[in-house]
Amino acid sequence: MPETDNHKIFSILQEVCDPEVPVLTITDLGIVRDIKQTGDEVEIIITPTYTGCPAMDMISMNIKMALLENGYKNVKVTSVLSPAWSTDWMSEAGKRKLKDYGIAAPDKKFIIPKDGVECPLCNSTNTRLVSEFGSTACKALYQCNDCKEPFDYFKCH
Ligand SMILES: [Zn+2]
Repeated sequence: MPETDNHKIFSILQEVCDPEVPVLTITDLGIVRDIKQTGDEVEIIITPTYTGCPAMDMISMNIKMALLENGYKNVKVTSVLSPAWSTDWMSEAGKRKLKDYGIAAPDKKFIIPKDGVECPLCNSTNTRLVSEFGSTACKALYQCNDCKEPFDYFKCH
């Protein structure tokens, strides 16, 4: 397969959504590190946003399904943990979509701040951590002290 196929593969990956936040694609998140082709085997290298998150299995499966639909039968998804993912890898469009979805964009590293997370509804930083586990294991639940709205903070995949 010619090298230029990588463009086609990348455009297929641009349609693969994140299972946790369906408005985001995996390319919005910047977790696709590399695409390698050896013969008819395609290897997709991804870096998970959070180690040990169950949704990563779902992402690998979604990648394989999307490529299979486009005629790539021999697909391998490899996770590379180093260098660690950071929000610098997220596209600006991705950060915006996340906020529009009502979820606070993660900090550079996935630490869970006790307070000071910006409320996606009113932009106040007068917020507090309610629970380290929000609507799913991958989100922490916060509440805004100003508008009183609870919101999710996206901490992993
Ligand atoms: Zn608020």
